[in-house]
Amino acid sequence: MEGKKADINSFLKDLKEKSPPLARIYEMTTYYTEDENKFDKFTILESSEATEFSGSVIPPDISICNECVTELKDQQNKRYDYFFITCTNCGPRYTAIERLPYDRPNTTMQEFPMCDFCATEFGDPSNRRFHAQTVACDSCGPRIYLTTNDGKSIEHKDPIRETGRLLEEGHIVAVKGNGGFHVATATTNPKPIIRLRKAKHRTQKPFAVMARDIDTVKSFAEVGHAEAELLASYIKPIILLKKKDDCYLSESISPGLHNIGVMLPYTGTHHILFDDVHEPAFVMTSANPPNEPIVAENKLARKRLGSVVDFFLFHNRAIAHRCDDSVVRVHGLRKSLIRRSRGYAPEPIRLKHTANSCILGVGAEPNATSCVLFQDKAFVSQHIGDVDNPETIRFMKEATYHLTELTNSQVEFIACDLHPKFNTTRLAHDLANELKRPVSPVQHHYAHIASLMGERNINEMVGIACDGFGYGSDGKAWGGEVLSCHQEGFQRLGHLREQPMPGGDLATLYPLRMAAGILHGGTDVEEWLSSESKRFPHGKAETRLIIKQLKKETGLKTTSCGRVLDAISAILGICYERTYEGESAMKLESAAMGGKDVLNITPEIRANTIDTTFLVREIFDQRNKRPVKDLAFSAESYLANSLAQLAIGNAERLDVKTIGFSGGVAYNEHITQTIRKNIEMNGFRFAVHKLIPPGDGGIAFGQTIATNLITK
Ligand SMILES: [Zn+2]
Ligand SMILES: [Zn+2]
Ligand SMILES: [Zn+2]
Repeated sequence: MEGKKADINSFLKDLKEKSPPLARIYEMTTYYTEDENKFDKFTILESSEATEFSGSVIPPDISICNECVTELKDQQNKRYDYFFITCTNCGPRYTAIERLPYDRPNTTMQEFPMCDFCATEFGDPSNRRFHAQTVACDSCGPRIYLTTNDGKSIEHKDPIRETGRLLEEGHIVAVKGNGGFHVATATTNPKPIIRLRKAKHRTQKPFAVMARDIDTVKSFAEVGHAEAELLASYIKPIILLKKKDDCYLSESISPGLHNIGVMLPYTGTHHILFDDVHEPAFVMTSANPPNEPIVAENKLARKRLGSVVDFFLFHNRAIAHRCDDSVVRVHGLRKSLIRRSRGYAPEPIRLKHTANSCILGVGAEPNATSCVLFQDKAFVSQHIGDVDNPETIRFMKEATYHLTELTNSQVEFIACDLHPKFNTTRLAHDLANELKRPVSPVQHHYAHIASLMGERNINEMVGIACDGFGYGSDGKAWGGEVLSCHQEGFQRLGHLREQPMPGGDLATLYPLRMAAGILHGGTDVEEWLSSESKRFPHGKAETRLIIKQLKKETGLKTTSCGRVLDAISAILGICYERTYEGESAMKLESAAMGGKDVLNITPEIRANTIDTTFLVREIFDQRNKRPVKDLAFSAESYLANSLAQLAIGNAERLDVKTIGFSGGVAYNEHITQTIRKNIEMNGFRFAVHKLIPPGDGGIAFGQTIATNLITK
């Protein structure tokens, strides 16, 4: 183009800043020539085949845009009150696209031929719906309808507002969305929530809520600037927000936790749902039967959810790919992804360098995702869940197949966890046989740190990787690790002290077992454990057996940081039974809110091993003498300070400038910020995740990054 320099610069600035929400600028090349009058027109060229198949063509689902919300509420508008109102800037994408190229016949809109009105808008370059593949209206598009829990249709001219009314009355309703079903209830009335917990066998796990608008959110939760921005963003993830002291929503929504997961309405249906009700928010939890992925199909929903809900709000559009809501937390001003799914997947993570090979990563077992690394992009799937049953394994296969199809890539290596018995490891071997490709097992904590190095483009790092469990290079249970990671691989530099896990997995479910294991040998421990026997399913017989097992000293041991947090949580009476992943540690963090470090324990590190027995003993001795919040806070401080000190000492010795923190424990804001303070005070750069979850949702990505290094 030709023009004055200032005009050209302002055009380039607008191109970046005023682009539509779905536009992604990966690269801009600008050069100036001396010639004048060289150009006589301005054109936008069509995409080349290369970009069509580079995988950047399928965008994630985007929440309803402001223009569509305005039209939805405008009685003069053709799409007034139409639940499936979308445009080029908003609506389902990833969940609606069955295959490439992204044209209507390849989407779940194929069954809804456009009416003349929609077709005119679709064909008009000046219209907001020009080439919007999901365009539809009340006369041609999908329909929404209400049924009883056994599928009998309920004739109602306004099924969505009727659903709102039913929820307010205390009923439980399954609501079909773009990527799957939600189960919804009221939030100010505990009765339906308790009933839902019973039906789902989910006694404690927090439910997310959808609030009417941002002002309503501010009435029950604390919303900082970064959180407000995320809540209102076009992604509309669930944000974990601190409950206000006078939070008036039912405590049964997130029992024992200081925070609550909140999102704002992101489809036309959601907006209409709040129209005629007083309820400030609705519980909106992913409708997944125990240990199964989110339900997305009408028939299956009736079968699997019929006994849980009172009514269904169905629509008749199929879902091509199910996708759960994303979950985000903010540490200070920094966003930390807990679950990267709707609104993010399958948007690729861009790498600085082109990968040596095309690599598929299948993740670990809990909270899995899969990932395809191809050229300079890593495509991480939506949240798949715990890959421990046939239905989730099938979902993992589907999502993985879809990713390779999207990228039109030929997988050359299949990366998996080092754990020989994970279902994902088995899946990797099956795929390897099928494709005649080699398998690359990657140690779990190395994969955590590799994911951090990959997304932050760092070549060398001392990494702190803390979580509940990962299979170690020596076959033992790891989980509180300090690693040296570089372009050649990794070395284990140090870790938390190995602690007994009496009963193996039972010690994860009943954290008092962990506490007994760590405290074992102290004079008063047997007596204390016996006095706590009511906390065990088999009472005194069980505590006697635990002591016997511990005396033999032959059982499993672990260096897990999560298990130490669990033990402390149990000693302080915060959590005796784990009913969902991370429960004890999350409740410990909530209990530590407002606490201070009253113990100030100097890190006990010998031969690169952090002593945790000393810490747990101290907490045990002080348990009835000081406030729980101070002891919880002090314990977290000790772990953070000693992990930081161990990492700093090694980074100095190795002359490495960056120290990173990954693994599920990195969700803990207090621990992360305490490590950060130590690291930065000592002049090191502190790296945390921005694009990938620190938990096991990031493992698949890390596996591909680690494998890429060895396939040079
Ligand atoms: Zn729109
Ligand atoms: Zn139409
Ligand atoms: Zn992990």
